[in-house]
Amino acid sequence: MKQYFHKKVEKKWIRAWEREKPFCAPSAFSGKKKRYVLDMFPYPSAHGLHVGHVESYTASDILARYYRMCGFAVLHPMGWDAFGLPAENAAIKAKTHPKKVVKENVANFKRQLLSLGFSYDWSREVNTTDPHYYRWTQWIFLKLFNRGLAYQKETPVNWCPSCKTVLADEEVVGGACDRCHTHVERKSARQWMLRITAYADRLLSDLDLIDWPQHIKTMQRNWIGRSEGAHIVFPIADASQKGNKHLDTATVFTTRADTIFGATYLVLAPEYEALQAWKRVISNWKEVSAYISAAKNKSDEDRISSKEKTGVLVKGVEAINPANGKRVPIFVADYVVAHYGTGAIMAVPAHDQRDFDFAKKYNLSIVPVVSPHADALISLPYLGDGILINSASFNGQKNSLAARAIVEKLKGTPTVNYKMRDWVFARQRYWGEPTPVVFCEACEKRLKTLSKKPRALSQGEWINPGWVPVPQKDLPVTLPNVKQYEPTGALESPLVNVPSWVKTKCPRCKGTARRETNTMPQWAGSCWYYLRYLDPHNKKALVASAKEKQWMPVDVYIGGVEHAVLHLLYARFWHKVLYDEKVVHTKEPFYRLINQGIILGADGEKMSKSRGNIVNPDDIVERYGADALRMYEMFMGPLEDVKPWDEKGIVGVVRFLERVWAIGQRASFSSKKPSRQRLMRLHQTIKKVTEDVEKVRFNTAISALMILSRDMGGEDISQSEYETLLKLLSPFAPFITEEIWRSVLSHKQSISREKWPSYASAYIVKQTVVIAVQINGKTKGTLEVSAGSDKDIVVAEVKNNARLKGMISSLSIKKIIFVPDRILNIVA
Ligand SMILES: [Zn+2]
Ligand SMILES: [Zn+2]
Repeated sequence: MKQYFHKKVEKKWIRAWEREKPFCAPSAFSGKKKRYVLDMFPYPSAHGLHVGHVESYTASDILARYYRMCGFAVLHPMGWDAFGLPAENAAIKAKTHPKKVVKENVANFKRQLLSLGFSYDWSREVNTTDPHYYRWTQWIFLKLFNRGLAYQKETPVNWCPSCKTVLADEEVVGGACDRCHTHVERKSARQWMLRITAYADRLLSDLDLIDWPQHIKTMQRNWIGRSEGAHIVFPIADASQKGNKHLDTATVFTTRADTIFGATYLVLAPEYEALQAWKRVISNWKEVSAYISAAKNKSDEDRISSKEKTGVLVKGVEAINPANGKRVPIFVADYVVAHYGTGAIMAVPAHDQRDFDFAKKYNLSIVPVVSPHADALISLPYLGDGILINSASFNGQKNSLAARAIVEKLKGTPTVNYKMRDWVFARQRYWGEPTPVVFCEACEKRLKTLSKKPRALSQGEWINPGWVPVPQKDLPVTLPNVKQYEPTGALESPLVNVPSWVKTKCPRCKGTARRETNTMPQWAGSCWYYLRYLDPHNKKALVASAKEKQWMPVDVYIGGVEHAVLHLLYARFWHKVLYDEKVVHTKEPFYRLINQGIILGADGEKMSKSRGNIVNPDDIVERYGADALRMYEMFMGPLEDVKPWDEKGIVGVVRFLERVWAIGQRASFSSKKPSRQRLMRLHQTIKKVTEDVEKVRFNTAISALMILSRDMGGEDISQSEYETLLKLLSPFAPFITEEIWRSVLSHKQSISREKWPSYASAYIVKQTVVIAVQINGKTKGTLEVSAGSDKDIVVAEVKNNARLKGMISSLSIKKIIFVPDRILNIVA
């Protein structure tokens, strides 16, 4: 018997597939249904592929290969998400250019992907750092700008005082710089913001249109955080005596207006603007201002999630609860963030855990206003519903129904609030897409004299005076190829040091202008890459409309749960803008989403360099072969589960593949027709594997194939039975099945182009039921048949039945009444 050498065989078919291109998506496929199977394209890091990539890419590859064999037009592309800090930092370290680093890493990733036999259509490869690609990223930015969805704002950035550079959020670990461990400061910088909040309601409601895991939908809903409530004005006590108009009022946002009679203090965010105006009358200003400064160094997340809530009483200013006229103290506390609602809240300690803890800590009064029933003894805080108490004329009303009347009576304004904030769309770094706008002082001056937006002006220019979009024909604005791209040590991009690039002409007034030097964040390129695959070489449009209509939406998208909010929310947002621009015809980009589970190290811990438990896919491919690695990762357990690595499992898979190989090495196959029993087994396996693949239950599909191959190993089977096994196995183990198909069985065409086996229901054993066989309404006997059998089958079974056939043979049948799974009544 010839032995199977995975290294030789895999190398051979990688080359053959590169030559033959069996995986190219068809350009025209009228009448043929399509499947767009998409992977989250990788960031090509220096470490190469990890086993988690292999897991999700194998899953999508099985689906792509399966759909092709089922006769679908399949699009299964791959590309590179290559802008961002890691490449820039690696290049700085190696004293080279990020472009070079990216090129090397991409080459390594591509070699690895090819080695695993993934059936990508490489003619559609995209790279987000390619000017032909980011030209369209910039084009989309201009659409956002023109619609008024991009605006300038001073917002905090992470600043490492030791590295003298701005850090991305992912470079800040536990409040410290990931590289030098210095405490990170928050500084304010001018940045571009994208108004994702304008799409909040659509991002919420359209979740109903897509087939995503519930937990991902929940994470998005929580991130958007829509809450209905009201703005309610709290007057400031003695405001007129203090003679300062800023002292008039504080407006809170609350979702619990029903509890306002229990509001015993107000809490303001440190950024609450009126605090500065009240400076003169705040008797402990020193303490208050120190607290405000300290809050500036904390991220919102730290502030909200920290267990111990801190705050400072604002002395000298008190508010009046508008519901009962009582004076209430005011605190400044950093767990209230400026952008949530108005940056001011009313605290109801009797009915809110956080307010309750805070009130206990600062000895504030706690007044219950909701009770399960009139004279119930309640333990506080009471978070449930009930009837109102201590609430004047509202006493006795159901709290859930009273909120509206209370808001009306206090002249509050019903308001919807979102937790989600607008998207900071700027990086003060080199390695990103240039933002395609220029600043012109002359245009700014002119605009500021106008009181109404001129018709010809876009909304973006009107709300960002002086900022002028680069005309479409001048795109892309390419990143200048410079030697010095290290951070400047200022809150600015190193591009400011390239005066020949910065200085430009204003497209509107032809005067002198300067280019925006902040680059786009690394999420930009991945927001729309799935569209470029459809038409990657189009020089006139982002995607031709016919191609977009042909392929969209993405039918299956596979990737990690870590992208549940950022990437998957940003991409949905851009897609909706492109929908409004009529660039795409679907409301949502990704119809079905599947999350693979994390693969842990053999020690059950997360794989990491420091633990030394990282498995390198290259090593496994070298030792056991790509087929073994693919199958092992799919056999470990359900795709979405978290699973530990276990090298013994690979050995089991290798033995299975050797068994399949050995069958093919037989001198001859049986020429006899297989027995009904063997056909039933084969067809049941076809059905099982087909259904499991459709439902992404690859582990159980593989075990069905293992059982079939073990049985076949001891039998004199026909070639056609063996070929069915190979076809079913081919999406999982493409190399060995191609080798047997073409080299051993001498077929000309790739097995990936064969038709997926279908099963005949006649061979599928189903649950049986007992049917009453009647003649003219009288039961003459019973018959056991497969559940769901149709009339003809049951009549045939009756005719085959030794006991029953005698009774009906002499009848002249007028009519047959059939109740599925219950009665066959022969009327004669
Ligand atoms: Zn640092
Ligand atoms: Zn100008």
